Amino acid sequence: MMQKEKDFGSQHSDEASHHFRGKRPEEQLLYDRLVDAIIDKTLRPGQHLNEVKLAASYGVPRSRIRRVLERLRDEAVVEFRLNHGAFVSRPTIDEAKDVFEARRHLETITVRLACAKGTPDKIAELRKHLTIQHDAFDNLRPNMNRVAAEFHLMIADIASNAVLSRMLALLLRRFCLIQSLYETRTGVLCLVHEHERIVDLIAANDAHGAAEEAVRHFDHIEKSLDLTERRRAEIDIYESLSD
Ligand SMILES: [Zn+2]
Repeated sequence: MMQKEKDFGSQHSDEASHHFRGKRPEEQLLYDRLVDAIIDKTLRPGQHLNEVKLAASYGVPRSRIRRVLERLRDEAVVEFRLNHGAFVSRPTIDEAKDVFEARRHLETITVRLACAKGTPDKIAELRKHLTIQHDAFDNLRPNMNRVAAEFHLMIADIASNAVLSRMLALLLRRFCLIQSLYETRTGVLCLVHEHERIVDLIAANDAHGAAEEAVRHFDHIEKSLDLTERRRAEIDIYESLSD
């Protein structure tokens, strides 16, 4: 059931050892790097995170790696297995449904607040970001999931509520793991034209319309996943065979 460990991190080792040595702020960089890898799907659910190899790769003490992994465990994106170490979490179907429900409600509130608090400058930034999204999605850039996630976080930023922003950031990471595990087709899920409609509605200060569009966006994403026991059984069999 355990996925084979992949050589995550070694490709960044030169750059990493430059950035990650030193005091506590570098711990944040390592944390950010792991989170980005989860959002980019470079790190996949079930993947082993070997503390010794990560420490060597990043040129930092093992204790620092452990602290970062424990922080990610507290955020439910990493799990520790007895005598086996740390692994990227594999959300269950029930967890996936909970994350979806929570995110759907949170984003609905967030777009409503963004309508109330959006300024012309902020809306211009959102429109500028749509151009970046078009480039990422049209060219299937490796960071396109991160770009899509950024858009949702920008809306939370406009809503100007630090608690909502933090909750959304946490949910987005778990959401990416769910997508990695349960999506039934590869390809573009977070369609930019849906984001464009949300921006238009925020710009028009149409809170009700923006909230409805956000819900439609999630319905669309949810339909691309197969959250059934049958699918989960298929995933488990596939992964046990690839061990
Ligand atoms: Zn989206």
